[in-house]
Amino acid sequence: MNYANIFFDDTVNGIGFRISLFVSGCAKHPPCIGCWSPLARSFDYGKTFTKETKDSIIESLKKPYIKGLSILGGEPMDNLGDGTLLDLVKTISRMFPEKTIFCWSGYTFEELIKDPVRLEFLQYIDMLRDGEYIEELKDITQYLSGSKNQRIIAAKESLKQNKVIFYI
Ligand code: SF4
Repeated sequence: MNYANIFFDDTVNGIGFRISLFVSGCAKHPPCIGCWSPLARSFDYGKTFTKETKDSIIESLKKPYIKGLSILGGEPMDNLGDGTLLDLVKTISRMFPEKTIFCWSGYTFEELIKDPVRLEFLQYIDMLRDGEYIEELKDITQYLSGSKNQRIIAAKESLKQNKVIFYI
């Protein structure tokens, strides 16, 4: 898996100070009109996510003020094939159960749970911002979302209760 960028002290993508990982690659075709990261739609963009990359994220999560990891794209849910992201969220959940994992996806929760690999990944996600970006519904005032159709879902909890539960 490639990634476009990592911010280690990010206050924009989530609650409090977080690490934000922007993975490369999005299979959405045609892409969302007004896509916010056209360069990162290529799976070859950026750098390879290595063991050292993972270690740097884990090391940073040890800082008490870091609240957790945010995973953005590209499209994280199109990046599960090589197991890198699943391994990362499993490690974080085991080592830092008090920290949260947020994920942004252009697919809806209902679409994602139909796929067994994505479903397994969602079991480690505290907050899922779901749904494609729709330019006509753009709303910059909506927390963590680009357009009004996108939802802030408590993914783990929704899977437990078998219905969509909102995170906030
Ligand atoms: S899902 Fe994200 S990366 Fe993919 S086309 Fe839409 S905005 Fe761009």
